[in-house]
Amino acid sequence: MDIDEVFEALSSKVKSYEKRLSQIEMSKDVYDLMINGQIGLIEAPTGIGKSFAYLVASSLFVKNFNKKIVIATSTINLQRQLILKDIPVIKEIFKDIVFDIALGRQNYACKRKFYAYASSIFSNIEDPKAFLANLKHGTKDEFDFWQEDIFEQIKSDKDSCMGRFCPQYRNCFFFNARARLKDADIVVTNHHLVFSDLFEVGEIFDAIDVLIFDEAHNIEKNLTSFATISFNFYDQLNLIRNFFSVISKLKLFELITKTTQTMDKLKDELINLANIVDYSTTYNEKYAKDFLIRVLDLQKQLVFDFINYKDKLDIELGVDFKALVDKFNLNLKILESFLSQNYEEAVYWLEKFKDIVLFNITNLNFADLLKKNLYPKVDSVVFTSATLSINSDFSFIKGVLGIDKASEKTFKTEFDYKSQAKLIIVNNIRDPQNDGYADDVSTLILKVAEQIHKGTLVLFTSYKTLNEVYDKAKDTLKKLGYTVLKQGASDNYNMQKVFFNSKTILFGVSSFWEGIDIKGENLSCVIITKLPFEVPTHPIEKAKYANLEKKGQNAFLNYSLHKAVLKFKQGFGRLIRTKDDTGFIIMADNRVLTKPYGKIFLNSLPEVDIETKNVEDLFLNLSR
Ligand code: SF4
Repeated sequence: MDIDEVFEALSSKVKSYEKRLSQIEMSKDVYDLMINGQIGLIEAPTGIGKSFAYLVASSLFVKNFNKKIVIATSTINLQRQLILKDIPVIKEIFKDIVFDIALGRQNYACKRKFYAYASSIFSNIEDPKAFLANLKHGTKDEFDFWQEDIFEQIKSDKDSCMGRFCPQYRNCFFFNARARLKDADIVVTNHHLVFSDLFEVGEIFDAIDVLIFDEAHNIEKNLTSFATISFNFYDQLNLIRNFFSVISKLKLFELITKTTQTMDKLKDELINLANIVDYSTTYNEKYAKDFLIRVLDLQKQLVFDFINYKDKLDIELGVDFKALVDKFNLNLKILESFLSQNYEEAVYWLEKFKDIVLFNITNLNFADLLKKNLYPKVDSVVFTSATLSINSDFSFIKGVLGIDKASEKTFKTEFDYKSQAKLIIVNNIRDPQNDGYADDVSTLILKVAEQIHKGTLVLFTSYKTLNEVYDKAKDTLKKLGYTVLKQGASDNYNMQKVFFNSKTILFGVSSFWEGIDIKGENLSCVIITKLPFEVPTHPIEKAKYANLEKKGQNAFLNYSLHKAVLKFKQGFGRLIRTKDDTGFIIMADNRVLTKPYGKIFLNSLPEVDIETKNVEDLFLNLSR
């Protein structure tokens, strides 16, 4: 069987399957990359059906060569789509291929903890054994009728796991799930789990032959988050509270009192520091060192107090106790590292979180991590996304991924943007720094809303502006009959559902530039309020800038601009999701016309008609 024959078989067997030439071409490309053991970068815009393309290629490769493949996505939504929608169709043809999903350890309940803590935290469960026997996989979603913090207390974690010495080992949810992965031919997982397994743990993906990263435009963001470790006071407090809730019967009152006092002092220091730092800022010895030294001493005190009680616990609780002390020690190391600044490639930064400050360390040398830990371990790696290049130039993503040589391909869009959409650049919105900016954007939104009367997405680059504009526009929008939503007021998944049954206008930031997939009239207009440049003052961005400048590169052109263009393409791509969709993209930032780099944004888009208008002349009409 070859790729063409698989797609033929799909056409005749699966009623809902519609043959697409670009999809077949992409599938062949992925298959060739696997055969030749190459690294590939494939940009495939919405409409091609890229997930189906690589699933067909993967299944055929497994069938013909008995290889093992891992597919990693960035979002849970895409994982859901693969598992619930695409893979069942593929299974119609490849019945013998075993697919499975790999979740992080923390998604599984730990039976040992469950039994140990059941009586103190689950008073409503009469028969814990029967309760556990009713669970299918013991994953977090099966516990979703409980509050999140209750699951936190019984979730599996590496530090407190007794492994083979655990009385529950043979029936352990987590280890059984990992054992099943050994029999799987194709495993679906997320970027983060691949990184942690390749860079740290090495228990799942040791023997894989091919790795496919979908949503690969997010790799830089996901690597940044993966490579960040934090001293978070509230995480530490939660761990302590969970532990104390189960050791209270041991009557360790003295330890509880001492710990509470130390944690109170720690919190006071962190609140005082929060009063003098900006939202996110690079660590600066001048004003933060004295705080750091006091926080460090308190953390040492905590470790010291706990270690003195080590012998007072029974064996099972002793494992959780050790895990807690290990976590205290890890936090201590993070703080000590701030003092010594001993990682050259890292950025040390402080972040305001609630009323306190987090101490964060981010390792910026991703390219080296991947070069050392990824490429030598697998035969072939495919990176794919709807937005990987700028006019077929992949140099930015290659730099991020540490790739010197790769096969590169850009597919053209399947949609006819010239007849399906129009880009309107509004010329007279005041500069975002100007006090009148929020008024202008609000006026623009109302002008659009008066005409469109269909689903509209408004994309912002900051919550501050979003809230200002939302407050100005919401009452009038409601009077016009719109349901008005803003990001953060409800979860993203539920907000997307509202779009399916009402005339809705949604105000979104970050994740909505890419994490929204609404078809038809439910989304007929996207308003981009500002070009999506990252905040250049964020410590991570500043450090990345400085690293590039040190290497003699222009950080704005080679980094900031590339990221903004890729995000702009993502935002633009929210509008047209099928061949039947039509609508408008309204651009409220006229820097695409006035700045020299503006052309790079416009040239990165598919061929589309562009109009320039003042807000008062705005008239939404698709005909030319
Ligand atoms: S083996 Fe580890 S994760 Fe599994 S039940 Fe035992 S302690 Fe929990």
